[in-house]
Amino acid sequence: MRLSFEFFPPRTPQGRAGLLGVAERLNRFRPAFFSVTYGANGSTREGTADTVQRLLDHGMATAPHLSMGGDDEEQIQALVDEYLGAGVRRIVALRGDSSSDVGSARFLNNAEALVRVIRSHCGDALQLEVAGYPDVHPEAASPASDLEFLKRKVDAGANGIITQYFYHPYAFFDFRRRAEAAGIGVPIVPGIMPLTNFARFVRFSKDCGADVPRWLYKRLEAYREDERALQEFGIDVVTRLCQDLIDAGVPGLHFYTLNRWGATTRICENLRLPADPAADHS
Ligand code: FAD
Repeated sequence: MRLSFEFFPPRTPQGRAGLLGVAERLNRFRPAFFSVTYGANGSTREGTADTVQRLLDHGMATAPHLSMGGDDEEQIQALVDEYLGAGVRRIVALRGDSSSDVGSARFLNNAEALVRVIRSHCGDALQLEVAGYPDVHPEAASPASDLEFLKRKVDAGANGIITQYFYHPYAFFDFRRRAEAAGIGVPIVPGIMPLTNFARFVRFSKDCGADVPRWLYKRLEAYREDERALQEFGIDVVTRLCQDLIDAGVPGLHFYTLNRWGATTRICENLRLPADPAADHS
């Protein structure tokens, strides 16, 4: 089971100081890599590179996210060279969420273009992961065209797919089945978002177009005044989701940790994923 844990670059000195501790706690599950997001239009260029470097310095395999955003080809190539020099062996290649005023011009800079730029610059020196959408990308003209763009990213040289989070396993199974039927042969790893806070979860889901099933919304809403009970419920729901996915043979799990270790750790423990007891912090 390939595990990976996603972080965002911390915005405060306290966040920066705390993140290594979070990574150390999660590292006991022996993840294949940690990944670090890249803000829209390169807004966290330094923050992402700095976070990646600090994780690498502590011996943790780390994959920066990278998007075309505000960067031109040469800037992308320079950043890729920097990462290669630092020991990065995997990048999550994305279009990125640019501001809506860019309009349709943003499609010129899609993730397929980024995969092509990176591949033509450094050959096979990097594993490239791209994003997939079991609930269909909100800007997709249709599920079929969404899949077509995914296939183009893979044909351009992506080695694997990490999905947006979702809460109905059948959405993932349907997506995987359609991807395989379309000739997409690379591993598809589901993205997992632990449920820990009602307002934040609803906001994120709205922003990224992830579907929140009505039953789940209603159940979480009922716990909105009781964060502890919501967290217990969330851990239970997400553990069951992960178990269904594991039973269906997924090659890995990618956790959107939001720079926290608690819920992700509980879920991994519930799933009895192999952990290194020597590194147990609990
Ligand atoms: P693309 O694959 O280029 O496009 C997404 C969809 O847009 C396509 O499936 C297709 O439906 C449509 N589309 C693309 N090109 C065209 C075209 N030429 N014509 C018509 N339609 C088109 N965002 C960040 O800003 N920073 C991050 O670090 C980040 N990390 C992420 C990690 C994961 C695992 C995932 C799943 C998402 C992440 N995102 C991140 C969000 C992502 O940037 C957004 O979902 C973005 O809107 C699409 O990015 P993409 O790489 O999937 O784009």
